[in-house]
Amino acid sequence: MTNGATNGTAVTSPFDALGIRSALEERDLSKQLRMGPLEKIYLLWVSGGSCDGCTVAVVGATNPPVEHLMAGIVPGLPKVELLHTLTSLEMGDDYIQTLRMASQGELDAPYVLVYEGSVFDEDLANDGNFYSLGRDPETGSPISSTEWLGRLAPKAAAVIAIGTCAAWGGIPAGEGNPTGSVAVMDHLGKDYRSAFGVPVVNVPGCSPIGDNFMETAAAVLLFLQGLGPLPDFDELGRPAWLFSETVHRHCPRAGYYEEGVFAEAYGDQECLVELGCWGPVVQCNIADRGIVNGTGGCMQMGGPCIGCTMPGFPDKFSPLFMTPPGSLLSSNTSRVFGGFIRRIRHITMVDKNRTPRWEGVEAPSGWARYNTRPRGPITLIHKAYRAYQHSKIGG
Ligand code: SF4
Repeated sequence: MTNGATNGTAVTSPFDALGIRSALEERDLSKQLRMGPLEKIYLLWVSGGSCDGCTVAVVGATNPPVEHLMAGIVPGLPKVELLHTLTSLEMGDDYIQTLRMASQGELDAPYVLVYEGSVFDEDLANDGNFYSLGRDPETGSPISSTEWLGRLAPKAAAVIAIGTCAAWGGIPAGEGNPTGSVAVMDHLGKDYRSAFGVPVVNVPGCSPIGDNFMETAAAVLLFLQGLGPLPDFDELGRPAWLFSETVHRHCPRAGYYEEGVFAEAYGDQECLVELGCWGPVVQCNIADRGIVNGTGGCMQMGGPCIGCTMPGFPDKFSPLFMTPPGSLLSSNTSRVFGGFIRRIRHITMVDKNRTPRWEGVEAPSGWARYNTRPRGPITLIHKAYRAYQHSKIGG
């Protein structure tokens, strides 16, 4: 695939690799640098070793909602034709026909392949198969998801692995692994590139945040549309802007950790590290984004982070809900130093809860049930603090 738009040399359509029958094919690309505008694009959703949790997550997405993409009302983005067993009105051979046309380069628009679930090693299924979708019309044999991946990936404009099973192997690839499950990028290999030259994009999570997927898909579509650069992905193909920070840095309970206060039982409001939270070393934006429309999420709902977005999940985070060994050092350090800082902060907080007019008297509030006026050494500390605050050194 070449584009000689910048130097006037012979131009080959970027759609040649896709075998697309479209008016777009006829355009003189020497007059344009971008590949769009596309009128529509197919989103072909294929499942392997999956629980369908990723699908449920995407149905709940709001930024943008999947139905807005399907209706073609998101500015700048082409109309999305979603082929998914959950939403498609077509059944049986009619459903498979779209996949077949895509694999043979006969669709009238590019397609993005979304793969949900791990990729099974069907050789281990002996005479049966682990998961199949439709039958080969010539042989009558079931076509496995793994085979569909192999057929569809080469001509796809992009391949997005949604969820931890597709991105890293996930639970199906955990210890034992009777199905020989691997990740999409393991299966396609390091050298795989889509028809537009894009390596596998990974949006992990078990289940992933629906909006993480929709935002990534929208960003990739903008790139394909020629309206934006290829978004920034990290060395494992994760959207860098979503997965470069740890859960812990944005956790609503991080203040408790810093002050060395830890939950002892589920339902407590403090930091969950001693109940098994791996947030300090897990790359995920759940604490920022919540799970649906900015609400919910693990720590917000009282659940410790079990590392479900990470390639090492689940084996490297097992046993789940046990204190991570490394946290013994960090949480005990927090307990000592954070405990000291928490007490000092409390003294300052008492001072800042009083106006300068109330110095030396009780606060004039009818709600006060006990004496609130600082006394003894606390008063001296407040005075020293304020003197320091307003000095040249502290101010
Ligand atoms: Fe960090 Fe987890 Fe504690 Fe939140 S609950 S502050 S992520 S250790």
